[in-house]
This record gives sequence, structure tokens and C-alpha cells, in this order.
Amino acid sequence: MKILLKNGRLIDPIGEIDTVTDVLIIDGIIQKISQNLSVTKEDKSIDLTGKIISPGFIDMHVHLREPGFEHKETIESGSRAAASGGFTSVCCMPNTNPVIDDPSVIKWIQQCSLKVDDGIVDVYPIAAITKGREGKELAPMMELAEAGALAFSDDGSPVENAEVMRRALEYASMIDKPIIQHAEELSMAKGGVMNEGYVSTLLGMQPIPSIAEEIMISRDLHISQYTKAQYHAAHISTAGSVELLRSAKKKNLRVSCEVTPHHFSLTDNAVRSFDTNTKMNPPLRSHEDVEAVKEGLRDGTIDVIATDHAPHSFDEKQVEFLYAPFGIVGLETAVGLAITELIHTKILTPKQLIEKFSVNPRNILHLPRINIQEGEPANLTFLDFMQEWIVDINNFQSKSKNSPFHGWKLKGKAIGIINKGKMKLFP
Ligand SMILES: [Zn+2]
Repeated sequence: MKILLKNGRLIDPIGEIDTVTDVLIIDGIIQKISQNLSVTKEDKSIDLTGKIISPGFIDMHVHLREPGFEHKETIESGSRAAASGGFTSVCCMPNTNPVIDDPSVIKWIQQCSLKVDDGIVDVYPIAAITKGREGKELAPMMELAEAGALAFSDDGSPVENAEVMRRALEYASMIDKPIIQHAEELSMAKGGVMNEGYVSTLLGMQPIPSIAEEIMISRDLHISQYTKAQYHAAHISTAGSVELLRSAKKKNLRVSCEVTPHHFSLTDNAVRSFDTNTKMNPPLRSHEDVEAVKEGLRDGTIDVIATDHAPHSFDEKQVEFLYAPFGIVGLETAVGLAITELIHTKILTPKQLIEKFSVNPRNILHLPRINIQEGEPANLTFLDFMQEWIVDINNFQSKSKNSPFHGWKLKGKAIGIINKGKMKLFP
């Protein structure tokens, strides 16, 4: 199949390219990058005038819920949500049932993902650090890595025990994989439902203080320095966490971190609505935290934007705030929120945005870099920075609709992907 991308602005941070050009793709391979290319009528020609061609986006923090919680999401519905949000790859977290702590679960997920739309979205499992995610005994990390685990995390729960974390980091560094921590000091955070601050006091809600996150990151950075292992902090949310990572990077530790779109788009003020779609873990933080997160994105302290896509069924979220589960879906709003909140406000350049959605997460996970060059496979995301659209949960591909952004007007959108010789367009 021949596909001609006409007049797109090709931005490739790795090749340091930013130019308007045509790209000819034949059977999934980039054949020619040049101006004024043409194809016959039988072939596909896509006009990308005013649009951006980027290396394919990856979301390194997604809960696909399968196996075990198929009423919330499946590998099929989650992969379709990823494609429609502009992602050619996702990493799925191991808090499934059974937990991804056995190579057979990894193999099963890989096989399922290949059946969804001919496997246009690459699904990369992240395996548990400890057996059953119980924080006690290390999972068989070597076998899990051999089966295809890109990284290890007990996400949903922190690795509380410092000695277990130390051994996990030592072991992971022997097989050159990152450890991803859900940083939360449970003795301070347990029972909390929202950020500790003015709004939690006003509403009389049990709080989760910022330091619950920062203490755990601080401890982990010490262990990471001691073991010289690669450490990634998932979904950081506080000014203190940004500062901890910033100084760790100055010391050249092998550390990285991510932030979710909701943590740079919303503050804990949103919880006043009592909408259970404003309940997530870590919680929405203060205005000062949001500003610090944006500065961390701008100055490169925060490497990655990842969604923490956490589907829950309508019934599960349709309860009192106190009893609702944590988390929101994010795959289909992430790119729109990032362009709206970070590009149009000039916090990030287009190149920086692409680094945080594609180049940096792939580096952290030791995935092959995407080279947009003749002879290379086409793994691409198309973006329209100017398109205005209204978020409508009824249009989501995801099985779950738990988003606080329903009705939001966004400017900017992913409009299509190409991967493994297949293309999906969402104009
Ligand atoms: Zn988490």
C-alpha cells in the first residue's frame, strides 16, 4: 500500500528536522522524504497542510485492566482509545488479576494486542516488581524481562520496604531495566481522598499531604544513588517532587519522571464540585504545585507526559466521593490538553512536546528510537495544533467514560497514526 503525506510539517527531534515536506510510505516503510512528490489515483494521498508529522507517541503509563477487570477496559478497547488519542504505543501496568508477575501473563497480553486492528498499537507490558504486588518478595524479573517486560512497577501501590526497593533496583540494573515507582508514603497518605490544603479543610475531606509523595521520592533517590540504578518516578504532582528530581538530575543520577495531563490542567479546587472524576491518586494539587509542574516541564526536569489512564465503570464512580475509586481515563484527551495548556501558552515548544510524548519515554524504556528517514519503518503521529474541539465522553473508544474534561473546549488534537503499515485517521 502506498501512502503519500502531502505538505506536512515534519518535526523530528532526533534528526533535528523541522520542515514542510511530503513523505511517501510504501508497505509501512518510508520510501522518500522530499517536496512535490506524487502518487497515482489508486494510492492514498493525505493533505497535511498546516498539520504536524511527528514520531509516534507512546503513553508509558496506562491501565488496560485486562486480565481481570474487563468491565472497565480491555486490551481491545484500550488499544482503540490509544489510537484515537494519537498513540502508536502504550505500556500497560501490572495491577491486573492475575498480576503481571509471571511470563505467561506477558505472553498472553502480547498475543491479545496483536489481534486488535492488526496490532496497529504496540502494547508493552510493565511487570510487577514484587510477587502479587505485595511489596515483599521480588517477582522473577529476569524471566519477565526475557518475556518482554520493558520495566518494573508495583503501580497502584508503592514499594514501601526500603530493602525490597534496594534489591529491586540492584536486580533491575543487572538486566538494564528501569524501576517505576508509585511514590506514596502510606503511613501519611492512607485513608486520604484529596490534596491536603485549604479545599480539603473547607470540605472536611481526609487529606493526602504533598510530603507523602516527596518523602518516598526522596528515599528512593538515595537508594538510586547508592545502587546507581535507573529509577523513574511515576505521576509526580507536587512542587517539592519537581525540586527533588531537579537536584537529583544536577547530581547526574539515572533518574527520570513523568506528569499526567490532569496534574498540569486542574487544581484541587475542582474537587469542590464533588465530581468523583476529580478523585485520583496522586490527588489534584494546589495552584503552586501546578505552576511548579509546568516549570519542570519547561526546564526539562520532567521528561515525560503520561496519562495514568485509569478506567472505571459508571457504577463504580457513581458513589459518594469518599467511596469512589481513584483515577480517570486519559488516552483520548492527553494530546489535546497538552497542546492547549502547554503549546498555546508557550510553556513548551512543539519539539519539546514531541520529546515528552515520544523521544524521552522511548529512551527511558530502552525502546529503539524512531528515525524518520528513508528506509525506516513509519511509526508516526499526526497533530493539528489549531483544531478546536469539545471533549465528549460519548465519543470515547475507551469502555469507561470517567473523565473530568467532558465538555471542555480544547485547541489541538492528534488526528491520526501510522504504525506497522497500518493507518488510522481521526480528522
Ligand atoms: Zn500510580
